[in-house]
Amino acid sequence: MNYHISERAASLAPSLTLAISAKAKQLKAAGQDVIGFGAGEPDFDTPQHIKDAAIKALNDGFTKYTAASGIPELKDAIVEKFQRDNGLDYKPSQIVVSCGGKHSCYNIMMAICNSGDEVIIPAPYWLSYPEMVKLAGGIPVILDTTDVTQFKVTPEQLRDAITDRTRLFILNTPSNPTGSVYTPEEIKALGDVCVEKGVMILSDEIYEQLIYGDAVHKSVASFSAEHQAHTIITHGLAKAWSMTGWRLGFLAAPEPIAKAISALQSHSTSNPTSFAQVGGVEALRGSQDHLKEWLPEFDRRRRYAHERLEAMPGISCVNAEGAFYLFPNISGTGMKSTEFCDKLLEQSQVAAVPGIAFGSDDYIRISYATGMSQIEKGMERMDAFARSLQS
Ligand SMILES: *Cc1c(COP(=O)(O)O)cnc(C)c1O
Repeated sequence: MNYHISERAASLAPSLTLAISAKAKQLKAAGQDVIGFGAGEPDFDTPQHIKDAAIKALNDGFTKYTAASGIPELKDAIVEKFQRDNGLDYKPSQIVVSCGGKHSCYNIMMAICNSGDEVIIPAPYWLSYPEMVKLAGGIPVILDTTDVTQFKVTPEQLRDAITDRTRLFILNTPSNPTGSVYTPEEIKALGDVCVEKGVMILSDEIYEQLIYGDAVHKSVASFSAEHQAHTIITHGLAKAWSMTGWRLGFLAAPEPIAKAISALQSHSTSNPTSFAQVGGVEALRGSQDHLKEWLPEFDRRRRYAHERLEAMPGISCVNAEGAFYLFPNISGTGMKSTEFCDKLLEQSQVAAVPGIAFGSDDYIRISYATGMSQIEKGMERMDAFARSLQS
């Protein structure tokens, strides 16, 4: 039987991150002691007070449809978050609660792109961005960066890429997959170009809270009313509250865009899960003390892994100050990323994600969202692997 698959679905690239984790799982099931550096989620559990709030909501019978764009209490909590953390004023009508940061990004592409519209995406990129743009009929325009600029695009690069078909520029800081954090000056300069050219910015700030060392996070929307008017911020509860499985995200946008996205959502997913939203209210309004434990621990792992990677022959690694990723350059080994990761997994039982998945074939992604003893063991193996390539 010849099944009919739409051009839309057929054009999608399958997820390489999923392929590598499937292979790692297979080896684990076969009894091998695999160290996983592939995780895209924190290894910590959701804080108890957040779980308790959702459990109570469930027990209280909060189990029905809610407003498609989210419950008023959660929108209020999100408005408070932007005021408190970013100095940004939004009205609840500018907030759309979604089933995850990914869902928010998808809705934005669907609400903004017509067929043939261009979306500028710096590489290395989060692997879903280009696929979402394609799904919406748009054309991803990739701007390559390297470790020489800590994987940051320059205002000149951005300016040169803008055409009269450009609808959106995607800025993700702190970054997945590189962990890089743009400075406030760098962010403002990119925002200035977008304001001048009338291009909207999708600012993916899901790793806002996960920064270390001297890094600071500044939202591009916060530089002026003009910047805010050109920005859609996407965020979510997945990373800083370790709620990946809850499927809860949100965005803040100029009102006409928020309205269009609410309408889209009302005909697709409808509301995010009712009792998960109550957990979201507690996450945003309740204690943030969990971060006092998580951040020093992430930072400790980050410093350790960075030092070990830098000492490996054929490998170099910029010291990224955000999220929970490092993005070492493996070109000195003479291999491209897929071959490197395949061999690393087969010969040393260490799973990492090839950079090609993020548009950069000379690098691999190392996630340090795993326990310190695993990181020590994995780095030891990777070091031996890198040394074996030299002889
Ligand atoms: C994890 C992640 C998201 C959102 O994840 P959800 O689980 O859908 O909330 C968005 N952007 C980036 C860059 C991410 O790494």
